[in-house]
Amino acid sequence: MKTQQKEFRNYDQSDATAAVREHYKKMRMYQTYDYVRAMKEKYLTYDMPLDLWDAFVKLNELIDVSDPDLDLPNIQHLAQSAEAIREDDRPDWMQLVGLIHDLGKMMYLKGSDEDGTSQAEQWGLVGDIFVVGAALPDTLVYPEFNSLSPDMSDPRYNTETGVYEEGCGLDNLELAWGHDEYLYQVLKNHSTNILPEEGMVMIRYHSFYPWHTGGSYEKLTNERDEKYKEWIRDFNQYDLYSKSDKIYDLEEIKDYYAPIAEKYLGTGHIHW
Ligand code: FE
Ligand code: FE
Repeated sequence: MKTQQKEFRNYDQSDATAAVREHYKKMRMYQTYDYVRAMKEKYLTYDMPLDLWDAFVKLNELIDVSDPDLDLPNIQHLAQSAEAIREDDRPDWMQLVGLIHDLGKMMYLKGSDEDGTSQAEQWGLVGDIFVVGAALPDTLVYPEFNSLSPDMSDPRYNTETGVYEEGCGLDNLELAWGHDEYLYQVLKNHSTNILPEEGMVMIRYHSFYPWHTGGSYEKLTNERDEKYKEWIRDFNQYDLYSKSDKIYDLEEIKDYYAPIAEKYLGTGHIHW
């Protein structure tokens, strides 16, 4: 990706809408350690079989409230990311990851306002994620909301390492609940998925900005996570800088990507 026409992820009060700010405030207030564990129990049931392309159609009805750069249906963002990866002649599996990386947002089909997983309430679905069960760093967007988290006045959770062992590594941390972890777990549970590890890591941690971009959580991560970070940063440029107003035709996208999807995910239903 060479072109960078405008500034992205500008959350300055003058620019970001009140809705984005409100979204992050709720995320900080409600995404507690207990909440995350409860949501994993509740949503990782794999009982909604849906074809990959049907999932895209469903996703198209959702608009992400946390994204200050985009007010298009999600499928357009996914097509833009995938096509930018394809234009750079990157591997086919990475193009596919571009196309599906936000598909976990279709969790809203099972969602509710009270869980923050609906169209109206998205604080359990989208937005930058952070570690729960340990202190919230200042690298989070709107760090002024950190103190609103009830966990931050709980001595079990408000220290730098919190409930974790020092250096335990990214895969052993609980992160704020949302579309990343949901899609990762759904694909992990999908028996015909042969996406490479890099791709699965890109899916799982792409919203973990305070770590991959903010540089926080040094005490919790380890050597192995540095490799993850390289992969995610590589992917992130396409997630972020491909955003535009260009509209893609879903049928054309499907023609090119269906064989790649078949190669890495198989042909059967995915169980959401
Ligand atoms: Fe995302
Ligand atoms: Fe994205």
